[in-house]
This record gives sequence, structure tokens and C-alpha cells, in this order.
Amino acid sequence: MAKDELMNYEKALEQFEVVIGLEVHVELNTNTKMFCGCRNEFGDEPNTNVCPICIGLPGSLPAVNKRAVESSIKIGLALGCEIAPNGRFARKNYFYPDLAKNFQTSQYDEPIAFEGSLEVEVPSGNTFTVQIERAHMEEDAGKLTHVGGSTGRIQGAEYSLVDYNRAGVPLVEIVTKPVYGAGAEAPELAAAYVRSIREIVKGLGVSDAKMERGNVRCDANVSLHPHGQEKLGTRTETKNVNSLRSIERAVRYEIQRQAALLAKGTAIIQETRHWHEDKGATSSGRPKSDADDYRYFPEPDLVPVQPSKEWIEELRAGLPEKPADRRKRVQAEWGFADLEFRDVVNAGLMDQIEETVAAGAKPQAARKWWTGELARIANSQDKDVIDLEISGAYVAELANLVEAGKINDRLAREVLTFVLDGEGSPAEVVAKRGLEVVSDDGALIAAIEAALAKQPDVLDAIREGRMQAAGAVIGAVMQAMKGSADAGRVRELLIEMANK
Ligand SMILES: [Zn+2]
Repeated sequence: MAKDELMNYEKALEQFEVVIGLEVHVELNTNTKMFCGCRNEFGDEPNTNVCPICIGLPGSLPAVNKRAVESSIKIGLALGCEIAPNGRFARKNYFYPDLAKNFQTSQYDEPIAFEGSLEVEVPSGNTFTVQIERAHMEEDAGKLTHVGGSTGRIQGAEYSLVDYNRAGVPLVEIVTKPVYGAGAEAPELAAAYVRSIREIVKGLGVSDAKMERGNVRCDANVSLHPHGQEKLGTRTETKNVNSLRSIERAVRYEIQRQAALLAKGTAIIQETRHWHEDKGATSSGRPKSDADDYRYFPEPDLVPVQPSKEWIEELRAGLPEKPADRRKRVQAEWGFADLEFRDVVNAGLMDQIEETVAAGAKPQAARKWWTGELARIANSQDKDVIDLEISGAYVAELANLVEAGKINDRLAREVLTFVLDGEGSPAEVVAKRGLEVVSDDGALIAAIEAALAKQPDVLDAIREGRMQAAGAVIGAVMQAMKGSADAGRVRELLIEMANK
């Protein structure tokens, strides 16, 4: 991969206006696929959830999944969109091995939802209104696994395997209008927008919304043009960026790469690009014109989708509270300071903290674990914290074990690693691995005496009021007992011994 020349970020923004556009695919969590009765289930044995319809055998006839339509309408309504009273499916024709039908059933000129908007807050506290152009229904393709190469990509692979379990899984594609004026915050806005979409679809209960499983996937369009110029620059589309951090990095990278080219007078090629997490760079995909000829035509095997007014209003009435209202409410309920609350929102942790509090943790303890140790672990694994395999109930259990004095913070962090490894709930891990705090005086006194034998002056120092001397003994006891000593009790015992 050739190394791109990048312009300094601040310099790029001095010279150019940034315009972004985002396409987000949301995989719906319906029981069955979009047009057939096959199970919609992640992680099943390859090619077990398939039938003549989803692999496009001749003569098979699709039928629309009503629940998928309902979920799509809910998404449209939550984004403030109009819902089309009459929408047709269309065939988007192209050949690729993951698409056995040779066409994707999608919506073209009649999307189910259109003309919405979403208020998005970025980490600085600034708010942007992102206009939604459309949200349409379509089906997912299968999954290709390229084997034998070093990168897992098709280049250099010896052969490829295809799994059609995902073929026909319902998707909603949400497309924004061009977003202007975010300037230096364009990368943060892109990530915050996708985070908001995740929150919304999760809140609606229509998607599992896990990015690492591909439930939510983002294509990020970026173009630059000189300040003062009306005409938009040529855009690139970075495909399938699969974490919030990557979205932010990919947009930033494209700004710097395009700026360097434009400054030299080199034209930007309109193309798709791939994001490489390891290299922190995008690379060229395939050229893409505005008028790729997919020979769209109305799907003859499906009747139009015509949701009744009553049904739409019923779904509108059942929408969960608006994200902005919810924020105000929970901040007050939890008693978080503005800055604490912003950290939680920016990390996308409202659901997790709500779940943890509901499971019995104090709000501040829930906040501490999620924005502290769990965020640190996620960061070290290059993940978003919400993608960690741990429930709010488990975090609450951990916080309450600390609160009750059964484990200390250090032990809790150790317990957490085993919980994340799938060893069970925090209480189970504590019991199984004997990680409880030792507050039994007999064991503690033995360890203190062993430590004092090496530091005989400590008791005198404590008698003279120099309490900091106790720290060395507490440290030694902790080390001897592998961090499981009840530090508070060790201190009390030391003082008792000094005063005898
Ligand atoms: Zn099927």
C-alpha cells in the first residue's frame, strides 16, 4: 500500500471547507429474514439458514416481512421522517459471489421514509442538525471469507468461502444529505451521528446495534472545496467502517489526504476507499461514478408496501421518549454534574448506566466502572466500551461487592477480567477463584507481623504520630496476600498494635 501524503490537519481546515455525508446500514433484529422464513441469527453454522428464496433459486417467490416494515417505519419516525404511503421495492442488479440472486432487493425512488433530521451533539458540546435524505429497506448480502492471504482481503487470498446465512437479512439504509459547516469537528460529528443512530435503533428495540457484528455499518463520504467556492469537491466514500473510533479516524485521514492532493493541484478520484485500522489509513477501492448503472427496476414479485395512516400513527404513539428529553431526565435522576454527564453521553454509555442502576448499583458507582476501568479495557483492546461482553447487571453486582466490602477496587479489577473472559458473574468468579478480601484478623496479624519483622521501626513511628510509616507495612501485607487484604483493617490492627 503506497503511503499517502497528508496535510497538517489545522492547515487543511484553513484552506478547505469540509463536507461529509453518511450512509448507515442498520441490520434489523427480526426473527426471520426480509423476504423468507429463514432464521435471522448471527453466528449459526454457515449456510444453515438458507432456502430457495434467499439464494434466488428459479421459481421461488418472496414475501415481505411485516415486522421488518414496522421496524423501518419506527426508525423513520424516530428520525422525524415522512413515511411513504406507497413504496415499491426495486431490483438493484449486480453480480457478486455473496449475492446469489444476482440482484439485491432494495428500494430506489420510493423509500419508505424521507426528509428527516437529527440533532447531534459532539464532544465539545456543540450541536449540529444533520438532515436525513431517506431511509430505505433492503436485504443484506452473504458473507465472504477470503482464505490464505495475510490480510483477510481478497487480494492475495487462495480461495474464498461464502456463507449465505446473512443473505436476505433485513437492513435499513439511512442516508444523510451533505453536512456542511462542521469544519474541524467533522470527524467527531460523523462518529457522534452514528452513535446517535445506534442509540435510537437500540432504544426502539429494532436492532442489536453491535458494530463489531456488523449490525450497524457506516460508509463515510468526504469532500473538500476551497473556502468561498460554491461548487462541491469530488468525494470519496470510505466503506464499512466498523467502529466509532474508526469512523472518526477515517474522516480525519481523508480530510488530510485530500487536502494534500488538492494543494498540489491533483484531482481527487471519485472512488470507494477501504479503512485499515492497523495502518490508520484508507486505500483505494473501486472507481465510483454518480450514475453507476444498476439497472434498477420495480420488483415484479412483490406488492407495494402501503402502510395505513392508522398503523403509522399507532407506531408514532408508541415511540420511546426523544433522546434530548431522556438526557435531561436521566441526568437529573442520577445527579451527575454536566461534565460527568457529557463524558457518559460521549462514550455512548447511557443505556449501560441505566441498566446498571436498574440492577441496583449507585449511579456514581455505575459511572465510575463504565467510564473508568471498562473504558480502559476497551481502549486497550481497540474496541468501543459498549461492545464489551458484559451486562449492566454484572457491573452492578461488581459495584455492590465493592460497596459491601467483599472485594476492594484492585480485586474488583481482577474479577472483571475473568468476567469478561466468560467465567460467570462477579459473585461466581469471586467464589470460584477465592478473590474475596481477607478481613480475618488471624491471617492479617500473621502477615503484619511478618512485615514488621523486616521493618521494626514502624510501630515506633506510628506511636510518634507519623502515620505515613504505616503505608510501607500495608503495602507489604498487600503484596504478601496478593492484594486481597482488607487495607482498612490492616491499618486499624497496626494502630492497635502500636498502642499496646
Ligand atoms: Zn431463506
